[in-house]
Amino acid sequence: MSNMPSAIFLDRDGVINKEVNYLSDPNEFKLLDGTIEALRIFQKKGYLLIVITNQSGLARGYFSVETLNKIHDKMRRLLKEKGIRLDDIIYCPHHPDFTGECECRKPKPGMILEAQESFNINIGSSYMVGDKLSDIEAGQLAGCKTVLLLTGHGLRERKKINQIKPDFIFNSLLDFAKSLRI
Ligand SMILES: [Mg+2]
Ligand SMILES: [Zn+2]
Repeated sequence: MSNMPSAIFLDRDGVINKEVNYLSDPNEFKLLDGTIEALRIFQKKGYLLIVITNQSGLARGYFSVETLNKIHDKMRRLLKEKGIRLDDIIYCPHHPDFTGECECRKPKPGMILEAQESFNINIGSSYMVGDKLSDIEAGQLAGCKTVLLLTGHGLRERKKINQIKPDFIFNSLLDFAKSLRI
């Protein structure tokens, strides 16, 4: 039990990189300020780093899997140059209007549960971090602690907090990372 790793599950857009609304060009992928330093702190504390991202732009035909892979290659490269390794990137390519319902699109917890099973993650000591309440809901359904960031859509989403309440709210990923004591 104690050997089970904990994870930081990270939404992508508005958390790791700038939110640009259906990012479809690798050249538009820009890391947010503080991402590198934050991920370094998580990694140093022994957390797995797993990206959990809805990419309905695929279902909508806005971009191809090849393009998405190029964007993710760039993300991995920019992080690797700074000594950071993502343990996994899991994306949902669906949208109910185009592909029907799926079990992975946040706010469903499917992608988190998939990662939990692959890596035998201790879910109760793990965090889901996002800039939308759908990230928070997915984390809660999976059994994680949850963090709403005020980057990306976060400021707008905070105003909608009602039933779905994040455990923590931080201005940035780095502020959250600095708050971790263990
Ligand atoms: Mg987001
Ligand atoms: Zn899906």
